[in-house]
Amino acid sequence: MEVDIMLPGPVRGILSTLQQQGHSAFAVGGCVRDSLLGRPPCDWDVCTSARPGEIQAAFPGKCLSAPGVRHGTITVLLEHTPYEVTTFRTDGAYSDHRHPDGVRFVRSVSEDLARRDFTVNAMAYSPASGLIDPFGGARDLAAKRLRCVGDPVRRFSEDALRILRMTRFAASMGFSIEQRTEAAALQQCEVLAQLSVERCRDEFCKMLSGRWAPRVLHGQRALFLPLLPSAAKTSERAWEEAVSAIAAAPGELGIRFGILCRVVSPAHLAPLCPDAKTAQTAALLAEYAEDPLRALPSMVRRWLHRLGAETLQRLICLQAAFAAARGDSAKQVELVEFAELLRRALESGACWQRAQLAVNGADALEAGIPEGEEVGAALKALLERVIDGTLPNERGVLLEQLAAWRANAGCEQCTIPAEKA
Ligand code: ATP
Ligand code: MG
Repeated sequence: MEVDIMLPGPVRGILSTLQQQGHSAFAVGGCVRDSLLGRPPCDWDVCTSARPGEIQAAFPGKCLSAPGVRHGTITVLLEHTPYEVTTFRTDGAYSDHRHPDGVRFVRSVSEDLARRDFTVNAMAYSPASGLIDPFGGARDLAAKRLRCVGDPVRRFSEDALRILRMTRFAASMGFSIEQRTEAAALQQCEVLAQLSVERCRDEFCKMLSGRWAPRVLHGQRALFLPLLPSAAKTSERAWEEAVSAIAAAPGELGIRFGILCRVVSPAHLAPLCPDAKTAQTAALLAEYAEDPLRALPSMVRRWLHRLGAETLQRLICLQAAFAAARGDSAKQVELVEFAELLRRALESGACWQRAQLAVNGADALEAGIPEGEEVGAALKALLERVIDGTLPNERGVLLEQLAAWRANAGCEQCTIPAEKA
């Protein structure tokens, strides 16, 4: 096929340097796929007949020593950008489902392409040779179809991560899955449970943030069960509602994980989150997913106090997504009002945390409140009432309240008197 891919300067340079030294060299994999799709590739990988030592000799002073050398991958740093240059190779099987048993260097680019997962990822290109596409990748790309290179049952049993990669390419590119490939994935997916979670996390996150993630979660639910066994107990209705909510939600991972936490146990989901903070936020969002967010300024401050601004904004998005999924327009209207009040509260510097109170610990001590826990208790009580709206956040008023607290000290129920409310 006649194709012309615009290679970045450094990639052209790598290919021609290697070719001048008698090696063959190609841009390969995702960058070829994305270029043919008219999308900017996120990185450019090169494969070559040169052995690792020969690659290093071809780019003196430009190679980073990286853990990939053992597998034939050398990172070449050009114009501050790292490029992975890998010797043509075949992978051994992943008999422990975690690490390849070993790699073997091979002579031809077609042999290297044969180890790759899907036909659309198994194309190579160089200006000198044009497109190398032994498995019909360009045809599958045009048909928007994911198809394994070779026998899908064998390919998935060699490395079950390919099943998850399949879901992520389907979710990010909106491709369908060829029938034999899909059947093999279903047959082999139990092995996903044995993969290391580090290998799964990246692919799962890319799947979940994909534009077509709802379609994949709807159509391929069974493939995720080995990773998320608690999803098997979720009713069809609840799962589909979560899928619709994800379709209505922004692509942000924290919110999408939060929605999934409604139908999958947070303990199963947490290891797949990109970091501990996302896992924590997702669990919090799921916990408060059904709590009413009443559009009152005091409720807005109370929720800000509980969750902070960022998490509260995500909770609004999550609840709005569920409301859309359920067709609950009254709830959607209330959430719009709540969001507007939140915007105003943040803009006007409303007080919802201790640091924003017009008085501080030094003021409490000056008012004669004994040092230690009681200062904290007094400020907490003041903050409660400022949040409720029964006290304004004004320094003069709050100083008076501190003095009153001091005056009441020693009595059993030492509370801030309410007469100023
Ligand atoms: P992205 O654009 O997200 O980086 P990519 O296709 O480049 O997508 P990578 O994970 O960067 O994906 O892998 C680079 C290439 O290596 C793939 O295109 C594919 O050819 C091959 N590959 C990666 N992982 C596997 C695997 N588990 N089994 C077979 N081939 C793989
Ligand atoms: Mg890549």
